[in-house]
Amino acid sequence: MKRRALPAPITDDTQLARMRAAVRAEAKDRPGVYRMHATGGEVVYVGKSKRVRTRLLSYFRGAYPEEKAARILREAVHIDWEYTPSEFAALLLEMRLIKKLRPRLNVAMKRDDRHFAFIKITRGLAPKLTVVRGASDDQAAYYGPFQGARRVEDSLRELNDVLGLRDCTFERKMHFSDQSELFQIARTPGCIRYEIRKCLGPCVGGCSESLYQQRLAMARAFLDCVDDTPLESLRRDMEASSARLEFERAAALRDKASRLEELRVQFLRLRCGVESLSFVYTVAGHDGDDRVYLIRRGRVRDERPVPHTTRDRAALERAIADVFSPPERPTTRVPTHEIDEMLLLTSWFSRFPKELEGVDRQGQQE
Ligand code: SF4
Repeated sequence: MKRRALPAPITDDTQLARMRAAVRAEAKDRPGVYRMHATGGEVVYVGKSKRVRTRLLSYFRGAYPEEKAARILREAVHIDWEYTPSEFAALLLEMRLIKKLRPRLNVAMKRDDRHFAFIKITRGLAPKLTVVRGASDDQAAYYGPFQGARRVEDSLRELNDVLGLRDCTFERKMHFSDQSELFQIARTPGCIRYEIRKCLGPCVGGCSESLYQQRLAMARAFLDCVDDTPLESLRRDMEASSARLEFERAAALRDKASRLEELRVQFLRLRCGVESLSFVYTVAGHDGDDRVYLIRRGRVRDERPVPHTTRDRAALERAIADVFSPPERPTTRVPTHEIDEMLLLTSWFSRFPKELEGVDRQGQQE
């Protein structure tokens, strides 16, 4: 990959003019990523484009969303860029650089990805399940992504109620029944969920830590689609209510069960979506720099140039076996550090579904 660097800054207007002149003189219209540096070398913004030159010049014309371009150029005193073999490679590199450098303006202007929601299992003494719009805690467990955060929130509320899990604020102190300082706390939390038995009450010694952890394990298993206990429990209650002629309660339980079913279906769909993103993807590159990406379960596990020799072909075969052979349990849980890449690939193949027609699924074992 080629890299071009512009001269060091002089003064505001002069520097702007010099940056523009250098882009005009040196940048090419081919895929790549660019970095905007502030005084002192801090990378304040990373971007990518199918045509680096056109994109960079658009900043100086104010054509690249005007406000955004102005804000970036107010801070930038230096631009550098590097070319990539393809737009796909540029997207991947941009994402990786943003993760690594956390440029201030990328963070401030983060694209609105609120249509994607995740279920997060927090850390702490009594972890709770919560719906979040992004993933930033490497120690927490995330499931998703989902579309329709509101529906996921409704379903999650039902799951919490069925399993008796807490949904209160993080500030709430927890006191399990097997904790010695229990005598120091009030007997009721002043929380309706405890009163109506929708929470085990880990804040007032309503349960032991191990019971709470057991329920949490059930929630994880449900989210992983390996355990139907929460749904079965609702269905049992529903049948019992019907048998007692408590039709109103039976109808309410049926509604809860259907919300949980909806969550389950979303998980299954997600799993199918992610499982289907497992293949060998060859991308034609600029000037014949073609690349092979080994993608398994929505993540790029390996990438290398398209082989032209017998030796390189054999190396690729070995890499394919290494990536696709080890069994992996299907799950909707996504490691935090892989979420951005999964979203990127999902969005890439939804934007360009024809790209899927040429992929090679021979290595896929899912
Ligand atoms: S009972 Fe306690 S732990 Fe449960 S939701 Fe209410 S305040 Fe939170």
